[in-house]
Amino acid sequence: MSDIDFWSWPPGAIDNAISELQQQYLPSLDRLDMAGLLKNEGLGKVAIVSSFGVESGCLLHFVSQLLPAAEVIFVDTLLHFPETLKYRDQLVEKLKLNLVTVAPHKKLLSTEDPRGDLYSLDPNGCCLIRKVFPLQDQLASYNSWISGRKRYQGGQRSNIPILERSGEHIKVNPLATWTKSMVINYMRVHEIPIHPLLEAGYRSVGCWPCTSIAVQSQEDRAGRWIGREKTECGIHLGPDGNFSRKRVGRSK
Ligand code: SF4
Repeated sequence: MSDIDFWSWPPGAIDNAISELQQQYLPSLDRLDMAGLLKNEGLGKVAIVSSFGVESGCLLHFVSQLLPAAEVIFVDTLLHFPETLKYRDQLVEKLKLNLVTVAPHKKLLSTEDPRGDLYSLDPNGCCLIRKVFPLQDQLASYNSWISGRKRYQGGQRSNIPILERSGEHIKVNPLATWTKSMVINYMRVHEIPIHPLLEAGYRSVGCWPCTSIAVQSQEDRAGRWIGREKTECGIHLGPDGNFSRKRVGRSK
């Protein structure tokens, strides 16, 4: 067991746990030991979080080779494309994943989104009750989590670190510095199935009401929340883990 003090995080000051891990496993880009980092017992109980989107197979294969027993959390917003659910089941079977599906709280849905159209009225509120809350509740029983974000996805992801703090959790982004070609090649070499909607032209896939096909000259995620000032669902919190469960939704 590592003697790193993982819970010594002082908000607004130096994060000792992140610093120590950084020095041990990521001293420089040419001396990056991702396997060592992910297998470090000090990370505690680790979850992989996946939306089973078009590039998810890469992260899921890469990490499940190193941590075969790790639980893979999928947030079922109840508004996913049927193709995504089918793809999830296909990857779970092929990669022998330990899937944990979580869903929005029924009572919250019935009070905040009784007609199921909150995505058009208040997409941030919709993401809060359908994605952020269910994931935060589930993550309460984990110490660390792994995400598949990459810098080449642009926007707020352009500068993501490999290792970061997310509230009380340590978050690892193993593919942060990968290029798109690396992801494509990795999936090809390991014969990872392709998301059916990628073949239909979608380069980034989320819930069906908020996903469109981006034009070729745009970034992959440009088809998400088109026409809205929104580029992320909100599950990736700032280092202070700041969010509040204030009431969301329409006025009656
Ligand atoms: S992506 Fe759209 S439909 Fe899905 S939770 Fe967010 S706002 Fe709602």
